[in-house]
Amino acid sequence: MKDLIELDKKHFIHPTSPIQQQQEKGAKVIFEKGEGIYLTDRMGNTFIDAMSSLWNVNIGHGRKELAETAAKQMEKLAFSSTFSTFSHEPAIKLAEKIASITPGHLNAVFFTSGGSESNDSAIKLVRHYWRIQAQPNRRKIISLKRGYHGVAAGSTSATGIPEFWGMAGHMMTDFTHAESPYENNTNQAIDSLRQVIETEGSDKIAAVLVEPVQGAGGVLIPPADYLQEVRDLCNEYGVLLVLDEVITGFGRTGKMFGMENWGVVPDMITFAKGVTSGYFPLGGVVVSDQIHEVLKEKSKGTLFHGFTYSGHPAAAAVALKNIEIIEREDLVENSRQMGSVMLNGFQHVKEDLNIVGDVRAIGLLGAVELVQDPKTNKHFSPDAQVAPKVIEALHERGVICRAVSYGNSDIICFAPPITINENQVNTMVGKLHDSILAVQKQLS
Ligand code: PLP
Repeated sequence: MKDLIELDKKHFIHPTSPIQQQQEKGAKVIFEKGEGIYLTDRMGNTFIDAMSSLWNVNIGHGRKELAETAAKQMEKLAFSSTFSTFSHEPAIKLAEKIASITPGHLNAVFFTSGGSESNDSAIKLVRHYWRIQAQPNRRKIISLKRGYHGVAAGSTSATGIPEFWGMAGHMMTDFTHAESPYENNTNQAIDSLRQVIETEGSDKIAAVLVEPVQGAGGVLIPPADYLQEVRDLCNEYGVLLVLDEVITGFGRTGKMFGMENWGVVPDMITFAKGVTSGYFPLGGVVVSDQIHEVLKEKSKGTLFHGFTYSGHPAAAAVALKNIEIIEREDLVENSRQMGSVMLNGFQHVKEDLNIVGDVRAIGLLGAVELVQDPKTNKHFSPDAQVAPKVIEALHERGVICRAVSYGNSDIICFAPPITINENQVNTMVGKLHDSILAVQKQLS
């Protein structure tokens, strides 16, 4: 058998990856199995999966129940279309279940295979919604700086992290970005949003698209009143509000959906990741009754938007079982409780070490910032590569984690499986402490 590292180099273009590093050093880890919060590589090394892989393996690895559910569904009906007016039970039941767990008037679901497709679908749906109501000029999408919405044409354009535009340029027209609430207080961030709406022309705006907590931008938790103010502003200008719940959905923030932390109900949400805990690719858009009514009444002929795998039967069956497990094991409550244990741990790390700035968490979505001077929040020079060094030190100690380096900031993100227990949280945070300490010593 040829060496896997060589085959990986020769044939595998990795997503979001440093291709030259892959060629020089080969794959860093070749994973072989997963169990609970742990991943094991082919050499037998075990790691804590402190990011639930890509913020998605919410119920943890190795759940036989999900494998059995997928196998059973595949044996019965592996695939059939949901195009046109064809349907099947798993997709119908999943749509009903999602309608029942999303708040308020969010009751009708369009399925996709992931987060990017979900956001592109939402962008097309909001434009379609205005078009069929004789307002075709309402095309613009306003999202936030530091927001991440995926890598398809619309979702890349909505993303507010410029690095993602580098590959092929800003993909689509009619996208604008307002200030993130993170570096700004609520008033400044809302003023920025208002200004963008007024400058672009409120009658040209289709929707405002934001994450309840900006994830890939560095786990940026907004001020308590921010999301409600965004809702009010959208109402004032008659603009739709779309919340991207791709990371924050399905228990991640200590509520079933992130928006519930602030009691805000948008006109649409997008979801993916935690809906299947990564056991199958699936995502979707949930729209309000009001939008659904307009679609039903005014969408003449065919809705020309659908993916082959929209509502895939095995994916839908796995999602239903995944949600059943989240409810049966009370994992949303576990996320809330273990989230406060994790935040407490982060605070101790900050008290004990000299290079820790802001620490934050909402449920099991958290971050630790590394700074040269916590009093002034002065960042390290990017050349110092502080966050990558801490990630490497964590790796050596058996924790797989992810750094975000937005501008000059060094942010270590955490989103462990929401099944994690107190001992495991303490072990993870202890290893974080030791890793930062090791890097702090190197720097001094
Ligand atoms: N939206 C958010 C908030 C995300 O974090 C991501 C992925 O990380 C996406 C959308 C894109 O999802 P996918 O990678 O499944 O296309």
